[in-house]
Amino acid sequence: MTRPVGRIGFVATVAMPVLLPPIVFYMWICLEYNAGALVIPVSGADWAWLVARVPAPTWTALAICLGWFAFHAMAQLWAPGPWRQGVPLRDGSRLSYRMNGWLAWWITWATLAAGVLVGWITPTVLADNFGPLMTVANLAAFVLSAYLYVLGRRRPHPAGELTSGRPLYDYVMGTALNPRNGRFDWKLFCEARPGLIAWVAIDLSLAAKQYALHGLVTTPMLLVCAFHVWYVADYYYHEEAILTTWDIKHENFGWMLCWGDLVWVPFTYTIQAYYLVNHTHDLPWWGTLGIVLLNTAGYVIFRATNLQKHRFRRDPGAPVWGKTAQAIRTATGSLLLTSGWWGLARHINYFGDLLMGLAWCLPAGVRHALPYFYIAYFTVLLVHRERRDHAMCAAKYGDDWKRYCDTVPWRIVPGLY
Ligand code: NDP
Repeated sequence: MTRPVGRIGFVATVAMPVLLPPIVFYMWICLEYNAGALVIPVSGADWAWLVARVPAPTWTALAICLGWFAFHAMAQLWAPGPWRQGVPLRDGSRLSYRMNGWLAWWITWATLAAGVLVGWITPTVLADNFGPLMTVANLAAFVLSAYLYVLGRRRPHPAGELTSGRPLYDYVMGTALNPRNGRFDWKLFCEARPGLIAWVAIDLSLAAKQYALHGLVTTPMLLVCAFHVWYVADYYYHEEAILTTWDIKHENFGWMLCWGDLVWVPFTYTIQAYYLVNHTHDLPWWGTLGIVLLNTAGYVIFRATNLQKHRFRRDPGAPVWGKTAQAIRTATGSLLLTSGWWGLARHINYFGDLLMGLAWCLPAGVRHALPYFYIAYFTVLLVHRERRDHAMCAAKYGDDWKRYCDTVPWRIVPGLY
């Protein structure tokens, strides 16, 4: 099936692999060589200075990346866990997924802890090799995406994939919705395993680095690490929810998602922890309390909203906030919940996620902009995502979606947006 692509969409898409990797390297150079302050290049010499600091790959980084990738691939393939069906595909068929992420999460920590205890793993190894690891992960994402491009074209799923027929565009956006080798699902694997756990592992290694350099782990560092550990552990605890997310249901698996999973998540979500290694300020008790409350409020909204939809779709008769659930029955047969959290805004789960994102940045203080990169990027991502979801639901549900929007007028933040 052909996906129509306009000129602007084409240019914006193929620009991503050209522009995004340099941005990631640039931010790391600011952290590593400029104490977290932005470097503003104004002369040729400034640009040359930046380019000279792009880290070269090393054998150590390659060995860590390959070992990490293989470890998680084996865990995904062989760790026990219940099998679950994904949502129906275009041809009505459904794929099976083994939900063993919670176990893989704990196996990873048990293995790393054992490695540290027997002296085979240095706690600061990821922090020490951050630059070369980032370079190797970038190269790996480009190579893997090329493989995925070929795989999707050689083995199209019977459901038919939406591709443009333009190789560059399809390389970035993917040629298959669910590229698989046997029962190994590349999208589930990359979305949910090596990059996501690496995010937390790098955070903890950066905390160890702070300890090694300064003899203490500061409250801001503890907060950032604890929030991230909680967020990712919670993700694995509710792993099944990934099967109904936008990425799994609608997005082909190409460079954009692959690079996002393997580079963007582990190497930009760790910016706050990286920044804090050498910024050892403390927080007043009320600041710590305020940040913890903000994260908790965000988490409660995020998790309760997502669970409410999940439970409602499974059992529409179950009460919502102690009352009979209110919903709009659509012509497709699907129900749109209009009470509980889903009666306050159409994507209040995004609001919860944004509150948490802000709580992850605030421990860094207000001296530099870079630690706030996450909340700035994430706001753009979720606003854009809400627009895409809105357009898709409008096309799918037609007048029923209009009725839903009349009943629940707010997009993300009740009373504001
Ligand atoms: P949602 O979980 O909000 O799912 C949107 C879909 O839910 C719609 O397409 C529609 O699908 C269905 N839906 C919409 N309104 C209703 C309703 N009133 N009642 C029942 N079903 C409804 O979106 P995402 O998959 O984008 O996000 C899931 C979570 O992941 C969010 O909390 C988000 O914040 C988080 N997230 C985190 C990211 C990160 O990097 N940390 C990145 C992206 C998301 P249909 O009707 O077809 O079933």
